[in-house]
Amino acid sequence: MKSLVLLVLVLLTSCLKPQKEIAMENVQVQLIRNATLKITYAGKTFLVDPVLGKKHSFMSFVEPDKNLNPTVDLPVSIADITKDVDALLITHVHPDHFDTKAMEVLDKNIPVYSQVFDSKAAQDAGFKTVIPVNEKVELDGIQIIRTGGQHGPEETLEMLGKVSGFVLKKENYPTLYIVGDCIWTEEIEQTIKASQPDVIITNSGGAVFMGQSRILMDEHETAKVAQTAPEATVIAVHMEALDHCATTRDKVTAVASENNLNILVPANGEVINL
Ligand SMILES: [Zn+2]
Repeated sequence: MKSLVLLVLVLLTSCLKPQKEIAMENVQVQLIRNATLKITYAGKTFLVDPVLGKKHSFMSFVEPDKNLNPTVDLPVSIADITKDVDALLITHVHPDHFDTKAMEVLDKNIPVYSQVFDSKAAQDAGFKTVIPVNEKVELDGIQIIRTGGQHGPEETLEMLGKVSGFVLKKENYPTLYIVGDCIWTEEIEQTIKASQPDVIITNSGGAVFMGQSRILMDEHETAKVAQTAPEATVIAVHMEALDHCATTRDKVTAVASENNLNILVPANGEVINL
């Protein structure tokens, strides 16, 4: 009788406890370096913005006649990074998001999802299946939704071109928003409010273009993202790997703690289980 009462109590408390419907444990985000991410989502492995060149393999963004980027080496081998990748997600084709080494070594049968403007670049690199994402496409029930944004203030947009972010969404999985190379604008705020992401990945390096305009979020704008989505897990990346990025991991961590915000700042190679 006692055990029956206990059982009823246990059942009752488990019913009263709010149940998290989202299968958070199935999502894994690994920061490779800068904006390159390996994301395992609903059984698929996405490689986002693959840049696989060695330290100093491509041009500086401060002294363009020198090869000073990336400023650090890959934390793991190329074989490890490219293992089991089902799809590439490209936010835009600047060399710090899709480099010649990645174009050379990646299996050309891997489908590439990119903004329409960049489809040709992926095709020219030899990829056989390039899927332009105008608004939304689906991969095995995963919605891949293109989001917009500005890679800097108005005066830089013509030179820097269009950029995208992506929202990954599937029923019973956390909604993941990859912001891409954007500064904080109303469009980002609206995207957060409309898509209600559980996880937001920000490119927070505060990069400065031609020594003048800031063309990426910095620590303060990253804090705005976290304040706009207080329930979401914010992961700040795109730092300490390029010579025009002024925002460091320490700066993001300091602003996060000053404002009581939980912003994850992974090291290169670190895996975050969500
Ligand atoms: Zn970038």
